[in-house]
Amino acid sequence: MDDLIIIGAGPAGLTAAIYAARFKLKARVFEKLSFGGQILLSPSIENYPGFPEGISTFELIERFKKQVDNLGLEIENQDVLKIELENKFYNIKTESGNFQSKAVIIATGATPKRLGIKGEEEFTGKGVSYCGTCDGPLFKNKDITVVGGGDRALEDAIFLAGYAKTVYLIHRRNEFRASGILVDKTKGVPNIKFILDAVVEEINGDDRVEKVVIKNLKTVIKSEIYCQGVFIFVGIVPNTGFVKDILKIDEAGFIITDQQMHASKEGVFACGDCVRKSLYQVISACGEGATAADSAHKYLLKL
Ligand SMILES: Cc1cc2nc3c(=O)[nH]c(=O)nc-3n(C[C@H](O)[C@H](O)[C@H](O)COP(=O)(O)OP(=O)(O)OC[C@H]3O[C@@H](n4cnc5c(N)ncnc54)[C@H](O)[C@@H]3O)c2cc1C
Repeated sequence: MDDLIIIGAGPAGLTAAIYAARFKLKARVFEKLSFGGQILLSPSIENYPGFPEGISTFELIERFKKQVDNLGLEIENQDVLKIELENKFYNIKTESGNFQSKAVIIATGATPKRLGIKGEEEFTGKGVSYCGTCDGPLFKNKDITVVGGGDRALEDAIFLAGYAKTVYLIHRRNEFRASGILVDKTKGVPNIKFILDAVVEEINGDDRVEKVVIKNLKTVIKSEIYCQGVFIFVGIVPNTGFVKDILKIDEAGFIITDQQMHASKEGVFACGDCVRKSLYQVISACGEGATAADSAHKYLLKL
């Protein structure tokens, strides 16, 4: 029986692990892939305090991991499939077995949202991508489109412009959710062309992406852009399917917590991109990871 099982080793889970280890809890971290989470989809991070020049995401995550290692807490490769409440304890089911814990922190983050348009699934991996860092180098001197208007879309458009001949940035409005400083920076990149008030309706090609059909939402006029890549950054879907039967989640699947990160069952806490909140960033995921571990510690003291 563990005191605490932390599910997910992104920024939220890794921070919860640091705090749990310092509280000297008997804790484990379960991660289904490799540690680090979504931020590794981006090459660098510029808004994490303490790094005025920005820092490579690999380096930042390596530092998180080293801190966890130094405290002697191991990250186990486990894909959590279900959590069940059994006599005040939790039964965590993974592909390789069942694990019991007195408290649980869910830090399973989110995955990028799909557009749900014709050609998107067919051409994923054949020109359609959700990760600039991973696939950018494959598009040297090619024309590509980037879809989205938030920080992620603009950051990746700038990164991709370093490889591509032309980046067409397609956004459904003429204002951006992204921060003003990032919008200005993007406007200063000569090979990024803005196509605003427009949506991508279809992705076409033979074996690989060859063009996209876009629609101007004001004029309703359709046109085509010839491109070899389509990078989609239009939001996230929380990884919470495995808890939907035991926890309160909102209509989009985000876990509902209070300010101390308590979920709707005693002894279950949630943090990071899997919870309903207003800011989906590394800094907030870390803050919530720390709070969740503190709340779990206080809960365990009362048992
Ligand atoms: C392209 C891109 C650029 C970004 N740029 C920035 C930026 O510049 N600044 C910034 O602050 N934020 C940025 N973000 C957002 C940031 O990455 C997230 O807010 C942050 O990673 C959330 O951390 P998290 O730990 O909550 O979740 P995640 O990072 O999503 O980590 C969750 C972890 O849980 C694991 N997991 C999921 N389900 C299970 C399961 N059932 N069992 C076991 N493990 C599981 C996943 O494999 C993953 O490793 C960016 C995100 C993207 C995609």
